[in-house]
Amino acid sequence: MSFEWLTPYHVMVEGGDSGLQPMSELCKYDPSFSVPDMQARVSNLTVQLLFGFGDGDMAPLKPYVTEELLQEFQRQAAEYAEQGRKLNVVRPAILRTEMLGFELGKGEARVHVRTQTRAVLYVTDRNGNVVDGNSTSETFESRTWVFVRGIDEKTGRVLRIDSQHCPNCGAPVNVYMSARCSHCGTLVPVAHFKWTACAVY
Ligand SMILES: [Zn+2]
Repeated sequence: MSFEWLTPYHVMVEGGDSGLQPMSELCKYDPSFSVPDMQARVSNLTVQLLFGFGDGDMAPLKPYVTEELLQEFQRQAAEYAEQGRKLNVVRPAILRTEMLGFELGKGEARVHVRTQTRAVLYVTDRNGNVVDGNSTSETFESRTWVFVRGIDEKTGRVLRIDSQHCPNCGAPVNVYMSARCSHCGTLVPVAHFKWTACAVY
């Protein structure tokens, strides 16, 4: 799997991908499953992915992605570092998080979620010269995450924690909006997320 960091914007089609079941069916066998909650968590994770790559540190994503996907992220981050390249991420905002649907198979449930992001994204070299992207205008991009969970696992007590506290400085952080403490810059992940990302494209 190769991951494009500067993907071109494309207009998102409405509705689910073919072959996926609608989310309403998932809610039937897991009544506590909350679409807005998952959307919020995926938004947070998407921002963390961008900042993680920008910082060259993918470790904060560890609890939320499979080992294989984490290794892929780390391999690409290392490749950037070797080349002296840095992804600069400025004012990322998640414009939309769309549940495409889910599939069942091999004892697992997989949910496909597409995010649309707006941010200033550009790549600089060792001397700070912009070598890819644009440092003065916003880039729109969309990508699709696939999250996996054991078929028998269900959503536990629904936790709506809009505000968590920064583990570094204690400031309140709306983790669904920012993923990063506005006071000290520490990444603040959402707690209690059972789904694990196994792919992103
Ligand atoms: Zn903080």
